[in-house]
Amino acid sequence: MKRNGKKIVIIGGGIAGLSAAVYALKCGYEVEVLEMHDMAGGLAMSWRRGPYTFETCLHWLIGSKPDGEFNQVWKELVDLDKLTFVDPHEFVRIETEDGDTLRMYTNADMLEAELLRRAPQDIDAIHDFIHAIRTFGKFKLLDPAGGIAENWLNMLRDVPVMPLLMKLGKMSGKEYGARFADPLLRGFFATGDMGKLTALAMVLSLAWMNNHDAGYCIGGSQALIRLFEEKIAELGGTIRFNARVERVIVEEDRAIGVQLVGGEAIPADWVISAADGHATIYEMLGGRYVNDTIGKIYAESETFASYLQVSLGIARDLKEQPAMLTRVLGSPIVIDPGTELSSVGFRFFHFDPTSAPAGKTAVTSILPTRNYEYWEKLRSEDPQGYRAEKARVAEVVIDVLEGHLPGIRRSIEVMDVSTPATVIRYTGNWKGSQEGWIMPPGAGIKPYPNTLPGLDHFFLIGQWIMPGGGLPSGPMTARPAIKAICKRDRVAFEIEPEVHGQLTAAKG
Ligand SMILES: Cc1cc2nc3c(=O)[nH]c(=O)nc-3n(C[C@H](O)[C@H](O)[C@H](O)COP(=O)(O)OP(=O)(O)OC[C@H]3O[C@@H](n4cnc5c(N)ncnc54)[C@H](O)[C@@H]3O)c2cc1C
Repeated sequence: MKRNGKKIVIIGGGIAGLSAAVYALKCGYEVEVLEMHDMAGGLAMSWRRGPYTFETCLHWLIGSKPDGEFNQVWKELVDLDKLTFVDPHEFVRIETEDGDTLRMYTNADMLEAELLRRAPQDIDAIHDFIHAIRTFGKFKLLDPAGGIAENWLNMLRDVPVMPLLMKLGKMSGKEYGARFADPLLRGFFATGDMGKLTALAMVLSLAWMNNHDAGYCIGGSQALIRLFEEKIAELGGTIRFNARVERVIVEEDRAIGVQLVGGEAIPADWVISAADGHATIYEMLGGRYVNDTIGKIYAESETFASYLQVSLGIARDLKEQPAMLTRVLGSPIVIDPGTELSSVGFRFFHFDPTSAPAGKTAVTSILPTRNYEYWEKLRSEDPQGYRAEKARVAEVVIDVLEGHLPGIRRSIEVMDVSTPATVIRYTGNWKGSQEGWIMPPGAGIKPYPNTLPGLDHFFLIGQWIMPGGGLPSGPMTARPAIKAICKRDRVAFEIEPEVHGQLTAAKG
């Protein structure tokens, strides 16, 4: 690749930073990614404990279907065909303590039959729901940063989908769930952050699953991250680990580089922050480039909850279990001051042979909480109390699992608990948020500003500028930033796709 003589420094080696690195390298820039952790991925992470690997992030990857629309975006960056995807036929099984069970299938026909069997009283709402899943299967994602010129064809294709899209876009999950009398179905939409999000988020995800376009890749999110690392190395880029950026160096309102903790200054022609938005704006830039819009976003918008993750290495083959199980509890469990949960989710990773040796199963449970301050304070001021609380929560979760699989406790050979303090320590995400901003009803699918008022040669990318977050927010926010930089530098934005013969080079 011919270099154009300009350097881009990228703060953060999560999916967004890595996506920007590949786009920039393909356009001829010198690229250095600075990652504070000792490995890449950010929230797209797993960790090894004994013979088990515990995934935190990946449930589904939008764009997993070969030749699907978002698949083409991934393939501008990496050869996604190197990954093996699996599509569980049951998205989640929901059960009560007294054995009432609802199976949410990924296939719309099977889901419809299951729902009508279970809740005939909800026939109208079920038909509307399944109709929405099928209709959204035809929905073409627009380039959120593009104008009419980039989007006109997909806009045209989306005309028939638009009325339904607008209708569900205005409703929260809770409002949508209220259309069903069946308590489990109602709870599916209304529980936790899902109830606050636009209903569109869940229905669109189910539409992608029905299309086999939201699968899980064997090896989890780190398998995807490794493809990016390999591509960056192949294109001559650098990822520097244990490199924590303390501040963005600004001269006459122009970003000219960054300074690491320890004092080292790294000059650059452009600086992109793919790190936490709040820390970037208010710490690395000292809050000097904020207007009313940005101030209002950070003062008023709601973030996704943080979470504890209880991970269990179980010396039993649990392949008869669903990939995901939600256990609805008779009485709530206490996670921390202010957080009680009336249901607990489990993931049984029997479908991923890289997660455990044969005959054993990695099992995880994600427990949402907004009380990140409690966990941070406990960890720093009372390490013994912190360990004790983690052990208590693990016991509570194992008790819930015992209700589903009596006797399972005896087969647990590895136990690990991470908390919001872990998320903050390893990824720097504000309030330990799982995915940045909640996409509220009525907001539409559009990004927040990717520049700061009065600051030149600087861009923000990643989940903090794309409400709803998710791995696709990486390429979706990196692409327009690099494209805008290329435009300013009069460099052609021409991206050679990774799978030759299937795609034509993307211009513009
Ligand atoms: C439990 C859970 C489940 C999820 N499930 C899914 C799913 O099924 N599908 C999906 O698509 N998405 C899912 N997500 C969301 C997805 O993981 C995130 O939205 C996405 O990974 C965010 O990527 P990012 O690059 O914007 O941010 P991050 O991943 O947070 O990356 C930011 C990086 O910047 C680094 N950094 C921060 N500060 C500094 C600094 N000062 N100097 C240097 N480096 C710094 C961090 O260490 C980190 O590596 C899930 C997330 C969680 C937590």
